[in-house]
Amino acid sequence: MPSVRTVLVTGGNRGIGFAIAEEFVRQGHRVAVTARSGSGPEGTLTVRADVTDAASIDAAFTEIEASLGPVEVVVANAGITKDTLLMRMTEDDFTSVIDTNLSGAFRVVKRASKGMLKARFGRIVLISSVVGLYGSAGQVNYSASKSGLVGLARSVTRELGARGITANVVAPGFIETEMTAELSDAVQAEYKKNIPAGRFASATEVAKVVTWLAGDDAGYISGAVIPVDGGLGMGH
Ligand code: NDP
Repeated sequence: MPSVRTVLVTGGNRGIGFAIAEEFVRQGHRVAVTARSGSGPEGTLTVRADVTDAASIDAAFTEIEASLGPVEVVVANAGITKDTLLMRMTEDDFTSVIDTNLSGAFRVVKRASKGMLKARFGRIVLISSVVGLYGSAGQVNYSASKSGLVGLARSVTRELGARGITANVVAPGFIETEMTAELSDAVQAEYKKNIPAGRFASATEVAKVVTWLAGDDAGYISGAVIPVDGGLGMGH
């Protein structure tokens, strides 16, 4: 029988986070999502939290712990983009993306580690991006935030690996969500030319990898960067 875990997915009200939460529910886990607006899929507990605010994360964890028990699996998924070329990028464009995508993950992982250390068990999955290692013109802020997650996961692995805690990075390529729907048809066609798989992925294809990494069979994988990108980033 696979273990049933208490899971938290940040940014679980839409897109990839919603699909991840849905897949954990489908597999029978106790699932909470954080959202600033809306709510997670059916069967999840939705709590309000903003990952740029440590106090709101702390309150969200306290609420989840009271309802579902200590968080054993955390998926840091909440993320934003503010794309523009370096010459036009303001300091606020840069720091606000880092604050949500990288510092936000730090705040969530730090809070989650308390209970995981006590339980001597934990699964941490950080949602990065192919551009974290590949780079991307117009995304200096975003790709820096996403490559920062690799250092975060690997350092957490070195600090907490002996306590039954794993920390891994999932690096999606182009996924069919609101984020990619904003791209024009011409830009989408251009991207698809460079993807060996020749298509974007569904959010569920990312979700299946995340749930597997959090599952019983992946206990000896830590500090890894798992691409879900149809071959786009090979070698990066
Ligand atoms: P969406 O824009 O659809 O959703 C982003 C999610 O993050 C929303 O739930 C949003 O909540 C939440 N969020 C943003 N800022 C905050 C904040 N300050 N505090 C709490 N929650 C916040 O994005 P996707 O589903 O496309 O992306 C999810 C993750 O996957 C992101 O980290 C993204 O970088 C990454 N990714 C996406 C790819 C893609 O092709 N779509 C490719 C590679 C990586 P709210 O609705 O309340 O604002």
